[in-house]
Amino acid sequence: MDLFEYQGKQMFAQYGISVSPGEAVRTVGDAVAAAERVGYPVVVKAQVLVGGRGKAGGVKLAANPDECREHATNILGLDIKGHIVKILWIEHASDISEEYYASFTLDRSAKKYFGMLSAQGGVEIETVAEQDPDAISKIHIDPVDGLTEAQCRDWVLAAKLNASVTDQAVTLLMKLYDAYVQGDTDLAEINPLIVTPDGKVHALDAKVSLDDNAGFRHDWAEFESMQIRDDREQAAHEADLQYVGLDGSVGIIANGAGLAMSTLDVVNQAGGTAANFLDVGGGADAKKFINALTIIDNDPRVRSIFINIFGGITRGEEVANGIIGALAAIDIKSPIVIRLDGTNADEGRAILEPHLGDKLQMAPTMLEAARKAVELASR
Ligand code: GDP
Ligand code: MN
Repeated sequence: MDLFEYQGKQMFAQYGISVSPGEAVRTVGDAVAAAERVGYPVVVKAQVLVGGRGKAGGVKLAANPDECREHATNILGLDIKGHIVKILWIEHASDISEEYYASFTLDRSAKKYFGMLSAQGGVEIETVAEQDPDAISKIHIDPVDGLTEAQCRDWVLAAKLNASVTDQAVTLLMKLYDAYVQGDTDLAEINPLIVTPDGKVHALDAKVSLDDNAGFRHDWAEFESMQIRDDREQAAHEADLQYVGLDGSVGIIANGAGLAMSTLDVVNQAGGTAANFLDVGGGADAKKFINALTIIDNDPRVRSIFINIFGGITRGEEVANGIIGALAAIDIKSPIVIRLDGTNADEGRAILEPHLGDKLQMAPTMLEAARKAVELASR
């Protein structure tokens, strides 16, 4: 789960990281009222789950209520890379003398935590990596050993930050490390991490991605409640299905995330477009297919449904029974094409056989099934 900047800052604050006071609002009137409490000058900041808001006009300084009203009006509803701004974060503006970059994430190939620190912040780290890779100071941290203050200090010194802020930077980065580990995040990034003219190190932005698998250890209900999902995604979330809404016309159900992604590719290859990504996961009872098929069939974009199953631990006949059970219980508008392979595929196909017709078709391979589904979608 990705957090909005203001949620990331709430979390950072809990770990003692210096962030600016502010308020999240949804209307122009509330923005002006919040600015009054926060104190001018303020920054009006678009809250969307995508970077580069500043460049897109989503971050503006306001010195007085008129400017705040003007910026809030312009930014609310703004489309930033396909994300419509519905929430603004109004925070007290900071004076900046330096902009740095700091982050912790996971280096999967090294099986270690990975920290990046640079004196060249405020711009995208990818750009720094391309143009001046030596300007990024990197550190690998063994998760078992953790990060010591001495290691952190060496990392900071290597980044060549302003020498006067070394101690503060070490302290802040140790807190960011705690937020990253104890907070169960996949990414904790501050860009820019600023130094103010009076020499304070301060987080001006926050990008946090939480590790959903660790959700049981935390109370993330409040973050969760702010997640932006369309109706389809909301229904899928409630049914515990791994679903991502897309805007094509072929609804997709597959077992396994890898197969679901390949299915999107094959549908594209066959000249069609997918309406969604949906991984039903392991197991395949009728209830799961009822939920999956209902969500897909309720999507007005969907013209056909492609069920792509490769039996593994879940056997072919279980899947076939699940699908037949679902189709007996609910009425599906769109025609369905099934490709069933893997463990006990023959048994599964034998179960489907008597039910085949216009509304339920079967194809022997993934590509043939995709072609059929695409053809049905274009009718
Ligand atoms: P992003 O573009 O989505 O990464 O949004 P940021 O929160 O990083 O803001 C973009 C840029 O706006 C920053 O790099 C700063 O240069 C500028 N900015 C943000 N907040 C302030 C502030 O309080 N004061 C000043 N002077 N500039 C700010
Ligand atoms: Mn930023």
